[in-house]
Amino acid sequence: MDTLYLVIPCYNEEEVLPETSKQLLKKMQSLMQAQKISNKSRIVFVNDGSKDRTWEMIEQYHAENPIFQGVCLSRNRGHQNALLAGLMTVKDHCDMTISLDADLQDDIDAIDAMVEKYYAGNDVVYGVRSARKTDTFFKKFTAESFYKIMKHLGADVVYNHADYRLMSRRTLEGLASFGEVNMFLRGVVPMIGYPSDMVYYERKERFAGTSKYPLKKMLAFAWEGITSLSTKPIALITRLGILIFLVSIVMLIYSLVRHLTGATITGWTSMIVSIWAIGGLQLLAIGVIGQYIGKVYLETKQRPRFIVKTYLGDTPDSQETPESF
Ligand code: UDP
Ligand code: MG
Repeated sequence: MDTLYLVIPCYNEEEVLPETSKQLLKKMQSLMQAQKISNKSRIVFVNDGSKDRTWEMIEQYHAENPIFQGVCLSRNRGHQNALLAGLMTVKDHCDMTISLDADLQDDIDAIDAMVEKYYAGNDVVYGVRSARKTDTFFKKFTAESFYKIMKHLGADVVYNHADYRLMSRRTLEGLASFGEVNMFLRGVVPMIGYPSDMVYYERKERFAGTSKYPLKKMLAFAWEGITSLSTKPIALITRLGILIFLVSIVMLIYSLVRHLTGATITGWTSMIVSIWAIGGLQLLAIGVIGQYIGKVYLETKQRPRFIVKTYLGDTPDSQETPESF
């Protein structure tokens, strides 16, 4: 039986923690009884610099029952960093982790299916929303457009998957080898590359408290995702530059024709041609410089160039090479 750690980032979640801890405890106990996970499995709350009683409550749960653990960050660092902090703290103690939100909007009954799929040989199991019935039209529209734009810009994200996912220990080790500071987990996890599968669930409404992700944070998050995963916007500038430069050639021919037929006033031809040509050349030049900056950017991330899955080498009890060899 393998050990499961649940990792839950919490920011000002005093209203939801009593219910969340109760439900998660029940879920873990049922999994233990069904012999799906070991008794060493734990529920880990990560306090992301909360200003309310969140940490005191976590301390209290830990004192009452050691199945609850807590990680306290020095200050608020945002959901992604809090999650990463939790995962990196527990990675040497568990065989698999499942990350989920404190408000239990993600159906915790999907945990059983995730664990099943883990035993079936998957290192990553993505929780995917099958419906967004409870989201407002605005949230649904913005969120779904986000996934589409990301895909278009070359970032390999799983459609309608947030950060509700199971990851095996070796996936966490792979994740640890990514050195980037702007870690956009949804884009980085698929890059690690081990076998993966999906579990579908319906997302519920927050049962207490308010969303810690107002529109402003959501937009910042989307921008962070695009810029940390893709340098395609730079390539777009280059293409625009080429396009406008081509237009300038067309304009050159057009204005020469107008000039020769005498249908212009003095100075118009040279003005029009230089405006287009200089505009196009400038954009093109910015694009080219941008391409190099993009390369520098990717280099500074120091991402692993490969992750070795298996090495068939000597083991401590392997035999000497046979004489006849
Ligand atoms: N969260 C966090 N740090 C932050 C903001 C949010 O750790 O700065 C946590 C929050 O406690 C919750 C999860 O991230 O467990 C998702 O936040 P929320 O439910 O408010 O987002 P929404 O579901 O509205 O997108
Ligand atoms: Mg939520």
